Amino acid sequence: MAGIYFHIPFCKQKCTYCDFHFSTSFAAYETQMIGSMRSELEMRQNELNFPLDTIYFGGGTPSIAQMEGLEELLQSARRNFDVAADAEITLEANPDDITAETIAGWKAMGINRLSIGIQSFDAPDLLWMNRAHNVKESLDAVKIAQQGGISNISIDLIYGLPDMDADRWKKQLALALELGVKHISAYCLTVEKKTALNQLVKSKQIKPASNDMQAAHFEILQESLKQAGFVQYEVSNFGKPGFFSRHNSAYWKGEHYLGIGPSAHSFDGKSRSWNIANNRLYMQSIAKNELPLEREILEAKDRFNELLLTGLRTSWGIKLEQLANILPFSSEFERRMKELLSQQQAEIKNGHLILTETGMLYADRIALDLFY
Ligand code: SF4
Repeated sequence: MAGIYFHIPFCKQKCTYCDFHFSTSFAAYETQMIGSMRSELEMRQNELNFPLDTIYFGGGTPSIAQMEGLEELLQSARRNFDVAADAEITLEANPDDITAETIAGWKAMGINRLSIGIQSFDAPDLLWMNRAHNVKESLDAVKIAQQGGISNISIDLIYGLPDMDADRWKKQLALALELGVKHISAYCLTVEKKTALNQLVKSKQIKPASNDMQAAHFEILQESLKQAGFVQYEVSNFGKPGFFSRHNSAYWKGEHYLGIGPSAHSFDGKSRSWNIANNRLYMQSIAKNELPLEREILEAKDRFNELLLTGLRTSWGIKLEQLANILPFSSEFERRMKELLSQQQAEIKNGHLILTETGMLYADRIALDLFY
């Protein structure tokens, strides 16, 4: 199976911590951008020859895009690709864009999963993050979506925030669980270079949480969600059985996907490509019938490392046979793997190398240690 990702490069305002690609002044060219994205999709219709079981609108903030634009892209995907009848169609939505009307519109066009960017249930956090919504809007948004008939709802939360102690994080999780959502993505706050948060940290206006505090939050997260019946199927992603994100799982399983829109990435099994992260240049290039992308053919070493990096973050781990088929294991690799097993950071089940709960905390570092 395969998937399509649409990157909608618009946001109401810039969140302090965010380094994604988007623009906040897009009203004048929104329609043109959607038209360009539809053209890109049509230009690349031969790049995916599998049935599609996931379509994902991410960004940016897809929920501020006009209904007609989203529908135009979806219809074009259905016309040009073999979209499965039961495909998962996800829209990332911010709480302040969710109303009974928007839910009805999205549902009518076939969107059947929402990923709501809540991030925090604390007003002071939302303030320094410069989020466009407030706490009440978050709580209301989930209820409105559920009442509107969308039951497959994921929410995003951020932990490891400055001044967030363990109790405050536990309260956040308790509130999240009361909402009855089926999926929670929880990310540890990272300070990215080109962000306002980085400036705030440098000027000492914000003091980031310590590594120990972030690790403690991660353990609380694992424990609370496990008790509530969620499965940690990836380091940052927890789902009730039957509600794991197909879109994210496709990435981690190395399935093919097509990324449409400025800054979107694609993968066809052998090569990776990425679109230019500039709205104006993207539209100009499409207007000239030229794909605004760079492509890189992955060498065996890259595929080996990538499988380690993505697979080790998941609960199903890495099929060792699949890894060895890319490149034979070195003695150094074997030695490191044995070390992980003896330290109980990983285990081997049915031929898969899988990290334990403790290992999950260090997933990226462990993968780097095992890199070819
Ligand atoms: S709404 Fe999302 S994409 Fe837009 S600035 Fe905030 S975090 Fe970034």
